[in-house]
Amino acid sequence: MKATRTARRTFSCDMRRDVCNGIRKGVRYQYETLPPGGELGFASWTVWRACMACVEDRREEGYRWIRNNYGVDAFHGGEVAFDGRNGSLVGTFGSHLLVLLDGDEKPVQVHPRDAGLVYMVEATA
Ligand SMILES: [Zn+2]
Repeated sequence: MKATRTARRTFSCDMRRDVCNGIRKGVRYQYETLPPGGELGFASWTVWRACMACVEDRREEGYRWIRNNYGVDAFHGGEVAFDGRNGSLVGTFGSHLLVLLDGDEKPVQVHPRDAGLVYMVEATA
């Protein structure tokens, strides 16, 4: 499970982008933890952390790849309907979109060209 936290000191960002200056004190970063030995109930270890700039860059790259490859209007936070239920796009996973349906706690992986997926494109006034 990924979570965010404010850095109390400066350390490196695991995405190590050329443009990245690492995670600086006072900025938010995303991290993922794993319990030692995979057992629940113990203090967890941080296994991955990245500055929010890199997280957002990578997220945007994921959507761009899907838009270019499938020709769909997939944007982060975009409203969609899937199998008759409303939801929104919360991420990408390889060639799939992560759709969080209203009332659900976990997103589902949906192919960008799934017949049951409808992109609600906002009308430009
Ligand atoms: Zn970074």
